[in-house]
Amino acid sequence: MQAREWDVIILGAGPAGLALATRLAPKRVLLLERQAQAADGLRIGESLPGAAGVLLQRLGIWEAFQSGNHLERGATIAIWDRDEPVWRDSLRDPAGPGWLLDRRGFEQLLLYAARRCGASIDYGCADFQVARQSAYWTLVPEGSQVRHLAPVIVDASGRAAYLARRLGLSHSKQDAQLCLHSFLPGHAADEDTTMRILADQDGWWYCVRLANGYRVLAYHLDAKHRGRQALQQPDTFLARARRHPLLAEVLTQRKAADVHVRPAGTAVLDLANLDAAGPGFLAIGDAAITFDPISSQGLFHALASAESAAAAIHAGCWYRADALAAFQQELLAVASHYLAKRRLTYRGPERFAQAPFWAARRG
Ligand SMILES: Cc1cc2nc3c(=O)[nH]c(=O)nc-3n(C[C@H](O)[C@H](O)[C@H](O)COP(=O)(O)OP(=O)(O)OC[C@H]3O[C@@H](n4cnc5c(N)ncnc54)[C@H](O)[C@@H]3O)c2cc1C
Repeated sequence: MQAREWDVIILGAGPAGLALATRLAPKRVLLLERQAQAADGLRIGESLPGAAGVLLQRLGIWEAFQSGNHLERGATIAIWDRDEPVWRDSLRDPAGPGWLLDRRGFEQLLLYAARRCGASIDYGCADFQVARQSAYWTLVPEGSQVRHLAPVIVDASGRAAYLARRLGLSHSKQDAQLCLHSFLPGHAADEDTTMRILADQDGWWYCVRLANGYRVLAYHLDAKHRGRQALQQPDTFLARARRHPLLAEVLTQRKAADVHVRPAGTAVLDLANLDAAGPGFLAIGDAAITFDPISSQGLFHALASAESAAAAIHAGCWYRADALAAFQQELLAVASHYLAKRRLTYRGPERFAQAPFWAARRG
């Protein structure tokens, strides 16, 4: 079997893995991706806070990002703590309003940056054997005749934290939240740019128009919700949203479209024990902390944790305990701050405190 040596192997070529590969230049980096090719089509997860601008600058993609098909985020209108809508704009946010991403274009930009920095990407890596032998991690993709060796291996496989779990780390799921969502095709008369968020008895909605004219309509509810199957019918889904005037006024001219389902609950890796997986193991992005979509922080965290992991790797985290410890401390602080804030957010709608969805998330 042929052996190939790398400085770093990253599992997962999503935003976190691609950002890390870019930050590691000029190291020899291999990205192994489960999908057969780069991400295509519409994908949910489009809201990027203004604070991410600095991270994009440090990735060297700021100019290209600014010429992309992204929309500046408009004001948010939320019915959450009370039954009346509350309007919030970005006037007091020094980082600015942020963006509604063309998610596909964003991921293509990250892919371009990683490739330009010399990273190699192998697609279609469905499974693999992994072991730590002397100073190296050895990884053999299923069906491959190549053995990849590197002192550092990084889990960027998203909420599944596939590699971390394979290496024996625990990964706590804080809730079983699902996101039902549709991309409602464009309508020329729809010029509303507000992000609309609304809590109801069974969960919470959001709805926003994207630069490509589609409108994302999403409903977050518990995986055990009894009416879920019915809600997956496009007409039923749209009709349910239209019961709420805040959503109905931006959905009048939209036609129903397929309803997709994605897991959308919080999950946190056992970050205090990263070293138990073996020297030179790191986890970033959703694989380390999966944020609830209500926070709109997942992509920011993907880029920020990639930056922190790159610093740890450049500092020699596979043989220097202080470099790993600094990375761990940072992620632990992020997780603890986020979990406390999330509890407060879900305590907001007190009028639904007895409803199962809210009772389970009030902490
Ligand atoms: C409903 C919903 C709405 C969201 N909205 C927002 C939002 O508005 N703003 C925001 O910032 N974030 C949002 N997010 C979160 C955001 O999408 C994620 O935080 C972000 O995609 C994380 O990037 P990542 O690279 O860590 O993981 P991912 O994007 O999941 O990428 C992981 C990559 O690893 C690959 N992979 C998985 N398993 C393996 C394996 N075994 N071997 C090889 N490769 C593997 C996957 O194919 C994928 O390419 C939302 C999420 C959901 C579910």
